[in-house]
Amino acid sequence: MSAAREILKSVFGYDSFRPMQEEIIEHVVAHHDALVLMPTGGGKSICYQIPALIFRGTTVVISPLISLMKDQVDALNANGIGADALNSNNDESANEAIRQRCESGLTKILYISPERLQREISWMQHSLNISLFAIDEAHCISQWGHDFRPEYTQLGGLHQMFPDATLMALTATADKLTKEDIVRQLNLREFKLFVSSFDRPNLSLDVRRGYTGQDKLKAILSIISKHENESGIIYCLSRKNTEKVAEQLVDAGISAKAYHAGMSADERNAVQEDFINDRVDVVCATVAFGMGIDKSNVRYVIHYNLPKSIENFYQEIGRAGRDGLPSETVLFYNFQDIVTLRSFVNDSGQREINSEKLDRMQEYAESQICRRRILLNYFGENSESGNSNCGNCDICKHPPRRFDGTILVQKALSAIKRTGERIGFTMTADILKGTRSEEIVKNSFDKLKTFGAGEKTTLKHWHDYLLQMLQLGYIEIAYNENNHLKITESGNEVLFGKKTAELALAASVEARQDSEPKSRARSGRSKFAKGHGTTAAWSGLADGGDETSALFEILRKVRKQIADENSWPAYVVLSDRTLKDLAAQMPQSLGDLHNVFGFGEKKIEKFGQRFVDAVKEFLGR
Ligand code: ADP
Ligand code: ZN
Repeated sequence: MSAAREILKSVFGYDSFRPMQEEIIEHVVAHHDALVLMPTGGGKSICYQIPALIFRGTTVVISPLISLMKDQVDALNANGIGADALNSNNDESANEAIRQRCESGLTKILYISPERLQREISWMQHSLNISLFAIDEAHCISQWGHDFRPEYTQLGGLHQMFPDATLMALTATADKLTKEDIVRQLNLREFKLFVSSFDRPNLSLDVRRGYTGQDKLKAILSIISKHENESGIIYCLSRKNTEKVAEQLVDAGISAKAYHAGMSADERNAVQEDFINDRVDVVCATVAFGMGIDKSNVRYVIHYNLPKSIENFYQEIGRAGRDGLPSETVLFYNFQDIVTLRSFVNDSGQREINSEKLDRMQEYAESQICRRRILLNYFGENSESGNSNCGNCDICKHPPRRFDGTILVQKALSAIKRTGERIGFTMTADILKGTRSEEIVKNSFDKLKTFGAGEKTTLKHWHDYLLQMLQLGYIEIAYNENNHLKITESGNEVLFGKKTAELALAASVEARQDSEPKSRARSGRSKFAKGHGTTAAWSGLADGGDETSALFEILRKVRKQIADENSWPAYVVLSDRTLKDLAAQMPQSLGDLHNVFGFGEKKIEKFGQRFVDAVKEFLGR
């Protein structure tokens, strides 16, 4: 067995590498630079942690996220690896102790922020033998990326200052320009580019179109009910929404908190800590949340609004299911999102690029073909075989049924025309539905021939069909005229019967969406005796019988105790996947633990017996 494989098994407790990991490690161990592109949760850390254990000297990991460092250091320590983080959170005596440990070789992996690095460079040059610099979030070096950090630019001098050290840059987001920028600015030499697949097959993809407030809440509650006692994130576009949604959830008896940039740093840290340590289940957050979180057992990510770009979207859903267990992602998308996001784009400095990015995001949300294919295509992974539908997105599971929607489209267009194209999205739907709102009466729109012409179709469906019409190019939004809808040339052709319009049936999509959560929740719960809440790690998995799931809950409690004793998050002790494997295998000796996924030697030695005892007690021996 190669040294790398041996470490993977003995230290981390994993049997096999994920795609690319082994090649990357071999390349770096041979002292060649590398640029690694892997999706969030893809397993980047091991790519520098294993070389760090093979090299004689110290490995320095540069990361902009101080909160993440603590997690990673905890996780490494739990596996018996000497790791520390030098940063401004420590007092000077703590930092001095860390320096000592580095010099004596006790600390193999040192995490540091780029700001801090500047102050420590001369100490590092004189007192350390640095084998490897791992530059995490490497896209921060590029102005082209979405996260430029000026402190990163100094990293270009690393090779000159540390001629013997190998450089490794890692990121989850890099388009072509950013990629080139990273290589150039870091002065990578003899480097190789490693791009792993961006596919995360354990994440299900689902888009719900045309939902507004109450419908969203209902759907969200239904999703959460499938994941009792489990962690999830809800991303909202505005601070106000994060608070509103969190409040609605709390009212419904759910443990939820808001997180946004308007809160103080202390408040935000408290929420983050609560989430990491499973003290709060749901965080409703603006995009600011999650960057510094490595929590492996996030079971669902919901987008309350359409994100700005596919990059953002993919990074955010990537925070679900890092442990590889099935996890759910749901995106809500309605007209208001488009209006809000378009106005952001128009006010932004890089209007053209941002507009293009939003277009692509919208295309994803409107897609009538496998959504995973759209995502992978976006990241330049073209599926070669014709039949590469993923089977784990809403389109694959419930192919949209199409129908001749010419009459519906004509009704909508005619309503818009008869008002002189002076109404927006909501008003159009209301006129079609025949809702006698104050605004409608005031404008005498209730006298229009088209008022109530579509009353048999629900309001929600009208919202869906109007969105489809927008995407099909029959109407467009006049952003400079109060977002009124205008009929395009192509729309006029449909209106005047020169061509037909095909729509996707909204009713069928909805029927399965409303029925699915209930039926799935039921089947998930039926596997559990009352009081055993954690269903989702099992739902959809064939191997979760009554007995194993009861044992899972017992093991969860043991894990929680160990976590509290060490002040670690539960997932640092063992991942959900390891617990699941324990519950399935029911090991009754320390030796048996070597066959359990993710149970490395240090962990077996430290607390293996407690899990074995719990299994034995459960089995009544
Ligand atoms: P990221 O690429 O986002 O930094 P991480 O390095 O945090 O991802 O890895 C995500 C999760 O996958 C971690 O829990 C890690 O332990 C696990 N992991 C990484 N490599 C493997 C492997 N070869 N086998 C099993 N689990 C792995
Ligand atoms: Zn699919």
